[in-house]
This record gives sequence, structure tokens and C-alpha cells, in this order.
Amino acid sequence: MLVNMSSDGTAPGGLEVVRAFLNTWEIPNDTRVPVDRLDALAAVPARWEEALPGLPAPAPESVDDLRRLRAGLREQLGRTHPAGLAAHLDRHPLVVTLGAAPPEPPVRLRPATPGTAGVLLAHAVGAIGDGLWHRLKACPDCRWVFYDTTRNAGRVWCAMTADGPGRRGCGAIAKTRAHRARARAAHWEATS
Ligand SMILES: [Zn+2]
Repeated sequence: MLVNMSSDGTAPGGLEVVRAFLNTWEIPNDTRVPVDRLDALAAVPARWEEALPGLPAPAPESVDDLRRLRAGLREQLGRTHPAGLAAHLDRHPLVVTLGAAPPEPPVRLRPATPGTAGVLLAHAVGAIGDGLWHRLKACPDCRWVFYDTTRNAGRVWCAMTADGPGRRGCGAIAKTRAHRARARAAHWEATS
């Protein structure tokens, strides 16, 4: 399915594996201590394939470069013009091929040299060209990366409610916080 209309945060097409890759760094609900799962996944091919289907596993010596790419991609989330990816594209150039006829897509991007970073960048640049990249966002509170399917791309939080196991509902938490702050301000106005 090309367009995913669900609100569970999954992204359309190749952007979903980019999203899953970005969430290999996460802040779990229970501990609230950041966890980087990249090394553990890269060390066990079966677990890598399960977590990041279709994405080639990296050679051990390129895991640190992937970590830099993950940080670089995260910095550009939510932007319509994520020009900060240029440095990563210099290191992992893409090749453009034109499809001859349907069902081939008219334009296809692929890495000039095969590798994990190149595949991720091909998906990311494809999404930029399709005008979808800015819908990929990180929750300002828990940093979880989700795809915003709202009409005006106005979603801010990972979720408004903790509507499932492992879901934090940062939107509801922020709302409660704002409500308490307003109540405190009203109290001070009333008593001063
Ligand atoms: Zn969140």
C-alpha cells in the first residue's frame, strides 16, 4: 500500500525502513534512559533482518558511519528542504535511472556503491522528492520517530494517548502539564 492512512506512525513505502532504522536509537518508556540498539542488531544478521526488513546489514567497520547518518537524518526530520543531508550524500552518492515503461517507476534512485547507508539515503531522497519527508518527525518528548498522516501535517507528538503497550502518549502528558501550569497561573492571579 502506497499511502498509509493509519495513525500508528508507520510510513509509506521505503520510508518505513528509514523510520525503523532511526528508532534503533530510542528512549524506552520504562527506563527513560536512551538505548542504542545499532551494534546489537548489526552483530546478529537474523535480528537485523527482523527489525529492518530489506535493508542490507552493515559491515562491522561501517556501523559508526551509520550512527552518524542516523544522527544526520534525525536532525533533518520534519523539514521540507533537508539540505543538511548533502554531506552524507557526498560520502554515499546516488545514481538516477529512468524507467522505460510502466510498471517501472519513471525515476529510480539507487546507491552508487551497495551498502546500508546508500539504501537509506535512496529511500530518504526519494521521499524528499515525493514531498513526504517532512511528515517524518521525532516526538519532542520521547524522540520516537513517527510518520504524520494528518491532512495538514500538523501532528507534533508520538501519540495523544498511550493507546497500546509500550506507547507513552506524550501529547496527553504535555496537555496535563500545560493544564497544571495554567491552573497554577490562575491560582496566583486569584491570590495576588
Ligand atoms: Zn513521545
